Amino acid sequence: MSTVDVPARVASWTELAQRILDGHKLTREEGLAVLDSSDAELLQLLDAAWQIRERYFANKVHLYFLKNAKSGLCPEDCGYCSQNVKSTADIEKYSLLNEQQILAGAKQAYDAQARTYCIVTSGRGPTNSEVDRVADVVRTIKADYGLHICCCLGLLKPEQAETLAAAGVDRINHNLNTSRRYYDEICTTHTYEDRLDTLKVVRNAGMELCCGVITGMGEDHGDLVDVALELAGMKVESIPVNFLNPIDGTQLEGKRDLDPRFCLKALCLFRFANPDTEIRVAGGREVNLRSMQAMSLYPANSLFVSDYLTTKGQAASADFQMIEDLGFEIVTGDSRTRELFAAHQSLPLAGGCSSGSSCGGGSCG
Ligand code: SF4
Repeated sequence: MSTVDVPARVASWTELAQRILDGHKLTREEGLAVLDSSDAELLQLLDAAWQIRERYFANKVHLYFLKNAKSGLCPEDCGYCSQNVKSTADIEKYSLLNEQQILAGAKQAYDAQARTYCIVTSGRGPTNSEVDRVADVVRTIKADYGLHICCCLGLLKPEQAETLAAAGVDRINHNLNTSRRYYDEICTTHTYEDRLDTLKVVRNAGMELCCGVITGMGEDHGDLVDVALELAGMKVESIPVNFLNPIDGTQLEGKRDLDPRFCLKALCLFRFANPDTEIRVAGGREVNLRSMQAMSLYPANSLFVSDYLTTKGQAASADFQMIEDLGFEIVTGDSRTRELFAAHQSLPLAGGCSSGSSCGGGSCG
């Protein structure tokens, strides 16, 4: 196919995509070749990732609105997160919404014909009594509205996951963020193994998994490939890929390792490794992908409409315009996204699923 320098270990990106569509599982060496590829190959790499994305998701773009039900007040020290215990970042701090507030949000989601409602909190993990409170609210929401429920509550114990599953929670968001090897570099108050344990108890309880990463924290290419393959092994349903936006006051303040071409290669890696999984361009896309944001939707099939955009309505509208300009079709994920989109343009809307949270690491990047 090419006049460019595709690494010898991968004959061509198109051929690799075809093999993946035929059932081949991406190897670690192939994953490294994706990240190490030259910028001259980028269009061919994106085209190959698009072939896979198109097979499973056609030209649909699922949109999600990021929101927090509890902010700050966290004892953990995840270095990328503005809510971490060592952070001096100036952020809002509030505790978990009460039952009436959570129910009101569910009604709003139902009235807006959203398919999914998210309950998201910061913190290491919930107490048993918080789990019971969430389970009670979820039972009411399920009975009254029948919404798909996604929760992000931090580290979960087996009995807590079972309680949530029994109450009707469909999906849990809990991000791995980086590789096993690099995890200690970004957090010392809990381990990679702790996070894996939560993913396992969620699976054992029969719930879906939304589990993502943050790139640009100082990890090497091997780390990124390892976590992409780890997620492939777990067959998670959704992967938010965050790009570090180093927030002043956090341990990673001033760390700016990423460029837009590498961000696109990372998205291609996750698509090759997880061909039929929803891949979301998540936190940090504006500052890291910059003028190349539109290209991210060739490997990825999902996008956050960030909450701060609600105070800058023009920017949310620009996201919708970008997707329309690509010739892609918008699928809204939750009530707020639907409202924003309806305000932008009156088109038939389909429901989707949403997730993303502080504790999952999604918004912290
Ligand atoms: S990512 Fe979650 S657990 Fe870690 S500091 Fe932020 S809110 Fe706390």
